[in-house]
Amino acid sequence: MESLKQENRVFNPPVEFVQGAAISGMDAYDALCAEAEKDYEGFWGRLARENLYWKKPFTKVLDESKAPFYKWFEDGLTNASYNCIDRNIEKGLGDKTAIIFEADDGTVSTVTYQDLLGRVCKMANALRKRGLQSGDRVIIYMSMSIEGIVAMQACARIGAIHSVVFGGFSAKSLHERIVDVGAVAVITADEQFRGGKSLPLKTIVDEALSLGGCEKVKNVIVYQRTGGKIPLTAGLDVWMHEIVANEAITCEPEWVSAEHPLFILYTSGSTGKPKGVQHSTGGYLLWTMLTMKWTFDIKPSDVFWCTADIGWITGHSYITYGPLAVGCTQIVFEGVPTYPNAGRFWEMIQKHQVSIFYTAPTAIRSLIKASSNDAAIHPRSYDLSSLRLLGSVGEPINPEAWMWYYENVGGSRCPIADTFWQTETGGHMISPLPGATPMVPGSCTLPLPGIMAAIVDEAGHDVPNGSGGILVVKRPWPSMIRTIWNDPDRFIKSYFPEELGGTLYLAGDGAIRNIETGYFTITGRIDDVLNVSGHRMGTMEIESCLVANPLVAEAAVVGRPDELTGEAICVFVVLKGGRPTGEEAKKIATELRNWVGKEIGPIAKPKDVRFGDNLPKTRSGKIMRRLLRVIAKGEEITQDTSTLENPAILEQLKEAL
Ligand code: ATP
Ligand code: MG
Repeated sequence: MESLKQENRVFNPPVEFVQGAAISGMDAYDALCAEAEKDYEGFWGRLARENLYWKKPFTKVLDESKAPFYKWFEDGLTNASYNCIDRNIEKGLGDKTAIIFEADDGTVSTVTYQDLLGRVCKMANALRKRGLQSGDRVIIYMSMSIEGIVAMQACARIGAIHSVVFGGFSAKSLHERIVDVGAVAVITADEQFRGGKSLPLKTIVDEALSLGGCEKVKNVIVYQRTGGKIPLTAGLDVWMHEIVANEAITCEPEWVSAEHPLFILYTSGSTGKPKGVQHSTGGYLLWTMLTMKWTFDIKPSDVFWCTADIGWITGHSYITYGPLAVGCTQIVFEGVPTYPNAGRFWEMIQKHQVSIFYTAPTAIRSLIKASSNDAAIHPRSYDLSSLRLLGSVGEPINPEAWMWYYENVGGSRCPIADTFWQTETGGHMISPLPGATPMVPGSCTLPLPGIMAAIVDEAGHDVPNGSGGILVVKRPWPSMIRTIWNDPDRFIKSYFPEELGGTLYLAGDGAIRNIETGYFTITGRIDDVLNVSGHRMGTMEIESCLVANPLVAEAAVVGRPDELTGEAICVFVVLKGGRPTGEEAKKIATELRNWVGKEIGPIAKPKDVRFGDNLPKTRSGKIMRRLLRVIAKGEEITQDTSTLENPAILEQLKEAL
């Protein structure tokens, strides 16, 4: 993949930020990288001893004997819930606010670390009383709530393995996951509030269980959220508040091996059928803590807000585990960014004095679109001076969206951590460090210390900076995926393929490193690479070019077989001003074609331009280009669409101009 256009803007971290940062300046970053390079196991062993509580210390850092099934700190005994809660109380943080919960309707409630301990212990005791044991799988199907976090932490406390399913999934998707993990219990809520509406949860669980093969499920525990009328099945369904009522507020944790599975989580399904990613306890928790300290530079006075849902890896690592493990105060938000209006995020930052804000490009792009016609909900209309650091995750952030975020939300004062990582990696892999790394819009910059990221060709050989290729990680790291649940062969095939030699971790993304700085830029999924007249191009560059056009809110680029050029470029565009039709649509299509031709080069000129009110996205907000590829070809969609958020949009996008 050749880069046709270079991003030249550079933003240095503010001097005051550098002075107070955990990793202060590039020399400090380089020193950590050098330490890892010199003695890899020594580096990770030191960090694991310094950061985690070990009931019994480990004697071996890394076991590679069954690679790629790596084991970290295996003979050490620990517990994630103990590390996240009890240990903070021992450090004197019992009265510190752990969670500020803002409900959909704006109601606010808070819990301290001491309160949280009591609630997690009560729940853990209730689970034990109902026969749950270490190693049992528990499905959690809830919306954003303190209770959801309590449920996850309670599982961790007794060694049960949770598998959280995002509350927007259908009965069919939920059923697949219940069966695949072999769940013995489901924790859910009667209903959920989102955007001013109440939506079902428990009735979807009932439907999922009725689809068969769920005989192992002996308990359905229901959190009463809305008070809506739902039927309870005697002998199976119980109310959460009833089973915890008489339980003690203390509970001895189950001390587990560092390799004990903490959870199984299914990927977003952007590129295919979701995979049940299995994570460990010790290595996973270590990395969530370190990245809270390094990437987010977390300080005792911070108010941290990650807007992800607990149904995704970002919600696991940067809501349920990381922020608690480092003893910080965080916001947990039940609602959606557009209710009661698209100023909700900014209003909440102002109200709760949020200092670190972490969200996704899809949210940023939709709020740019919304505020382009409504000054009242523009971030400039709020006091966002409490912010000191911003973050982005989930997809590549287009340089123009980065600039908007930097200027309008961060007041040109806050560094942006563009964090590249995956469900499989457990935590951040490549990201600027806010007190060290000079930032370039659209680039996730450099790997975190200890992460041996590289770019290789299709045979697994290193490529020089400046030529694009396949993103890999050369050495195992503590928070990496341990296996795909129930499918070790798919684990090896997906992540350690023979073609690359069998020892490189394959991320599945394409990337390029800058010739001078060595900075990484993600060019798109490797499945999505375009080949036009022999020129290999990532989807990202053309999409970012389109987003830089003042008319465009969002764009997705795919290839379609073409007799002349091998592949022709098709673009699907969402305009800020709504979907054009007829002559107007044709006029704008020509304008955009010329724009890409001028900005990148004639080779990148799209052949086909289509307009939609939206793009097909996963329920976590990611563009599903694999479906657009089918549409561009004019074929019927037969692929897995279980994670598709908005099926109706497919019909609209089938219409060519
Ligand atoms: P599936 O693996 O089922 O196709 P998915 O890859 O979307 O789904 P996730 O694990 O949620 O599932 O997402 C990880 C992917 O998200 C990365 O591989 C990358 O493509 C993209 N991504 C995440 N953060 C960034 C970022 N900061 N920059 C660029 N891409 C990112
Ligand atoms: Mg993936």
